[in-house]
Amino acid sequence: MREDRAERIALIEAGFRIANERMSAWEETPADAEELYFCECSSLECRQKVPLTRALYEAVRSRPQWFLIVPGHEVADLETVIQRGDAHWIIEKPDVVIDIVEGTDPRAEQPGPERAEADELADGIDER
Ligand SMILES: [Zn+2]
Repeated sequence: MREDRAERIALIEAGFRIANERMSAWEETPADAEELYFCECSSLECRQKVPLTRALYEAVRSRPQWFLIVPGHEVADLETVIQRGDAHWIIEKPDVVIDIVEGTDPRAEQPGPERAEADELADGIDER
């Protein structure tokens, strides 16, 4: 695991994001259907689920710096809450970890060097 706190947190959240992407690839879901997604917060032990429409999930995934969390699960000194729903919040990651959040983005055409590490974290998250 990494020494740097901001990087470590970004990688954990990237692991949850990959786990969500694996789940969401299972089947075609209508845009207005509500699904349960993993909370993409900084706690590797967190297994809370966030209800979200497919359309809103896609909106979060459109920006590599955006992550989906249970309300209150943000890291206040590192993350900016940009949307507060009743059962979900969307956070934006800081520029200091832009390389990590872009390099681990499951929808990026070119994965970065951190992607393998994030994939391994995701393996531990979605095993059941
Ligand atoms: Zn959480």
